[in-house]
Amino acid sequence: MSKYDSIKFLKETKARVSRRCDRCSGDIVRGTTYYKESVGKINTIGMTLKGFCVKCHSEFGASLLKS
Ligand SMILES: [Zn+2]
Repeated sequence: MSKYDSIKFLKETKARVSRRCDRCSGDIVRGTTYYKESVGKINTIGMTLKGFCVKCHSEFGASLLKS
């Protein structure tokens, strides 16, 4: 648990590279929408920000942030 966990939110983002969902390991294809953890304008160097596919976001919503 990092000190930024309480301010994290999920930001709708277009995938710049293909990646995998951090929950279901499903493919997130480059150019498609996914939901990335964000902490606003705070410097995120050294932080691990997860990304989730649309399917997991519609199923679990903000509770993904607590996983
Ligand atoms: Zn997923």
